[in-house]
Amino acid sequence: MEPWPIGVFASVDAGLGVNLDVARDLGVPTIQLHAPAAETRTQANADKFLATLEEYGLTLTAVFGGFEGESYADIPTTVRTVGLVPQETRVARTEEMKEIADFARMLNCDVAALHLGFIPEPELAADEYRAILDITRDVCDHCAGIGQALHLETGQESADGLLRFLTDVERDNLFVNFDPANMILYGTGEPIEALRKIGKYVRSVHCKDATWSDAPGQSWGSEVPLGEGSVGMEAYLSTLKELGYTGPLTIEREIPQEPARQKSEIGHAVELLTSLKSKLL
Ligand code: MG
Repeated sequence: MEPWPIGVFASVDAGLGVNLDVARDLGVPTIQLHAPAAETRTQANADKFLATLEEYGLTLTAVFGGFEGESYADIPTTVRTVGLVPQETRVARTEEMKEIADFARMLNCDVAALHLGFIPEPELAADEYRAILDITRDVCDHCAGIGQALHLETGQESADGLLRFLTDVERDNLFVNFDPANMILYGTGEPIEALRKIGKYVRSVHCKDATWSDAPGQSWGSEVPLGEGSVGMEAYLSTLKELGYTGPLTIEREIPQEPARQKSEIGHAVELLTSLKSKLL
């Protein structure tokens, strides 16, 4: 595949991505997929999905785990409900994440990915930190057994916190899906600086933009159309180039409640990335 193939984040029956026909209409070559709901993760549906991908000329580059009960309503709710970290759902979701990886395998996809949740700081909660290391190793080992890498979405930790965690897990199939807008939305650090720090782990990326909250880390920043926020798309792509990143550029625009606007803004994002690619590559 050419370097930096453009992609979009897509959904079937769960998650905030666009429908597959939007990806087809926009003419992009790749997608990442939010895992469909448990009852639809069957071999028959995988086969149907693969046929559609082929018909639309799309390559699937990652499958993202997501779980019932997750809510991004505000930052405290996100801490309480998202990913494998929340205690009440930890065991069940860890098992479900392995099932999602199995579904990704049915789709011939070598990358499973997720928001792990807010990783506790080892100085403040040593036992919890160790427990999260253990479940992450468990999922990594499952993925390794089926020839997959696991990518952690960024945002909930600072680059330094995430770097320490990645090192502590000690698994060589654990990488990062870098989302620069999340660093701003969650208030966890300047995205370009963070990208440089964890660059060697970055194997997939989101192209998403945002503006800072006036109380970073306490309330959300605002997600905005690509190029209109504080990431700085040219600096972002230049840094990816310096790091030797050639993987997909997957556009995320999380406004599924406004599908027409979502499609048109992603169309503009495709144009922006296309022009930056021709400038930088
Ligand atoms: Mg993202």
